[in-house]
Amino acid sequence: MSFIIKCLDCGHYAPYYPTSTSCPKCNSQWREAEYDYELIGKTLPALLAKRSSSLWRYHELLPIRNPNPSLSLGEGGTPLIRAVNLGMMLGCPNIYIKDERQGPTSSFKDRQASVTIAALKEAGITEMVAASTGNVAISYSAYASRAGVKLWAFVTSLVPAVKMREIALYGSQVIKITGSYDQCKQVASEFARQRHLYQDMGARTITSIEAMKTIAYEIAEQLTSVQGPPKDTLWRTPDWYVQAISGGMGPLGVYKGFREMKQMGWVDRIPAFAPIQAEGCAPMVESWKKGLEKAVPVTSPKTRIETLATGDPGRAYEFLRGYVDSSGGAFESVSDEDAFRAMHVLAKMEGISAEPAAGVAFAGLFKLIRAGVIKSSDTVVVNCTGHTMPADPSILGENWMHDVKFPTKEETPQEGLLSALSQVAPERFPKIAIVEDTAEARRLIRRILQSQGNFTILEASNGREGLDLIQRELPDLVILDLMMPEMDGFAVIEALRAKPETATIPVIVATAKELTTDEKNRLSGQIQSLMQKGDFLNDEFLEEVKALIK
Ligand SMILES: *Cc1c(COP(=O)(O)O)cnc(C)c1O
Ligand SMILES: [Zn+2]
Repeated sequence: MSFIIKCLDCGHYAPYYPTSTSCPKCNSQWREAEYDYELIGKTLPALLAKRSSSLWRYHELLPIRNPNPSLSLGEGGTPLIRAVNLGMMLGCPNIYIKDERQGPTSSFKDRQASVTIAALKEAGITEMVAASTGNVAISYSAYASRAGVKLWAFVTSLVPAVKMREIALYGSQVIKITGSYDQCKQVASEFARQRHLYQDMGARTITSIEAMKTIAYEIAEQLTSVQGPPKDTLWRTPDWYVQAISGGMGPLGVYKGFREMKQMGWVDRIPAFAPIQAEGCAPMVESWKKGLEKAVPVTSPKTRIETLATGDPGRAYEFLRGYVDSSGGAFESVSDEDAFRAMHVLAKMEGISAEPAAGVAFAGLFKLIRAGVIKSSDTVVVNCTGHTMPADPSILGENWMHDVKFPTKEETPQEGLLSALSQVAPERFPKIAIVEDTAEARRLIRRILQSQGNFTILEASNGREGLDLIQRELPDLVILDLMMPEMDGFAVIEALRAKPETATIPVIVATAKELTTDEKNRLSGQIQSLMQKGDFLNDEFLEEVKALIK
C-alpha cells in the first residue's frame, strides 16, 4: 500500500510513522494521509466483490502496510438499517441507521482502535496512553489485549462505573481523573510525554481519521445495494449524514471518505453534514450559529451525556465548520431530556437500544426535520453508536482503578497537574526481562504481565542477547526460556550465577519442554520457579512474579 502524509497547513509531504505527530517542516499537528487515487479508483471496485464486509475490504485506502488478520475482531461492515417506523412517524421515509452498535465493543470507536492498534503493532509500539470519555478507551482496551499493547486509559469521573469496569476488564490500567475532560487530557498528555509513550491525539490522529472514513465507503456501497445504482457513478450518496459529536473525529473522517470517493469518481457529491451536540456542551454549535471562525470553549460542560463532553474542540471546529458549510449542512444542539426521549423512541419504534449519546443524534434528526432543514424527500443516514454491556464488579476484584483527584486549591494549574500526575503511578516500576526466542510466547508473557500489574518489560530473543540485557539493566526478575539459539537457558543461568551483580536476580524458567531428571538437577537451587507453558493461564504465575519482585 503506498500512502504519504500531507500537512494541511504547509502542504509538506512526509512518510508515515505513528509516533511522529507533527509536520517536520512547520510543526502543524493537522495532517492527513494521501493515496494513489488514480490507481485505486480504477482497480479497487473490481476487487471488492470478492471481499468480506469488514473495514479491511478498503485496506488499500488505509495507512497500514500489511493488514494483520489476527488482530481483527470483525470491525466495520455494520448494517445499514432502514428505519421504517421512524420514517413514517416523521414523514421522512428514507431514514437509514448505520448501526455502529454492532461493532466488537458496540461503538464506532472500534474502527479507530482497530486501525490505530494495527499501525502501532506494525511499528513495534507496545504501550500507549489515551484520554477518553469512555468508549474510545473501551475499544482501545479490547484491541490492545489482542495485540499485546499496554493501555493507560485516563477517564473523567463522570464516566459511568460500568464503562470504567469494562475498560479494566480487558486488562488495561484505568486512571480516573476528578476534573474536566480537558484536564483529564492534560494529565494523560503529560504522563505520556514524561514516559515517552505513544499518545492518542484525538482528531489529529491520522489512523483515527482514516478509520472513520470507512463509514462513508460503507454507507455509499450499502445505499447503492438497497436503492439501486445511480446512472453515472459507481455508488450513491445520501442527502444527509447525521452524527452526535464530541471532538468531531467521526464527521471529519467520514467527510474525508466522501471527498476521496468523489475524487475517484465513485460518487458525484458529498452529503450535507449535521453534527449534533448536547446543549450543555455545544461549543461548536454555538460558535457556528454566531458565525465564528474559531470555537469559544465551554469550560464547565453541563450535560449528563459524558460521552459528548469535549468543551474545547480546538481546530477540529474550523475544519468541521468548513465541511458543514460547503456541504450545505447544519450544526444543531438538543437538550439532555430530548436525547433521552429520542433514545426511548428509537428503542420503542425500531428495536434499537442505544446509549444517550446516540439519542442526541436522533433528537437532532427530529429537530432538523421539524424545522424543515431536512426535507421529507431526503435520504438521511444517522450514525447510531454506543451500547455497552456492564462488567460485573465482582469479576475485577480490587485495585482495578487509580482514583486521582485534581486538586482544587493549588496555586497554579501547573502544580495541580503535577500533583495529579504523582497520584497516577510511581516513577519506577519493577523491571522484568523476558528472554524467549519465540515471538508469540514473548507476546503472551508480556500481555499477562501488562494486563495485571505495572512492570517495565524488557525483551530479548535469544540467550546471548538476554544475558547482555540482564547485565546491563539488572532487572528485578528474569523470565527465561530454556531452548534458545546462540546460548540456551541453562548457560544463561550459569553465567548469571557466576557474577555477584546478577547472582541474586530471581529467575522463573518458562518452558514448553519436558525436563529430564538431569536437567531438573541442573536447575535445582539455581532458579526460583519452573513454569510449563500451560501454567500461564492460572493465577499462580502472577502471584509468583509478584512475590519474587518484592
Ligand atoms: C465518541 C462518540 C461520539 C462522538 O464522536 P466524535 O466524532 O469523536 O465527536 C458520539 N457518540 C458516541 C456513542 C461516541 O462513542
Ligand atoms: Zn507543515
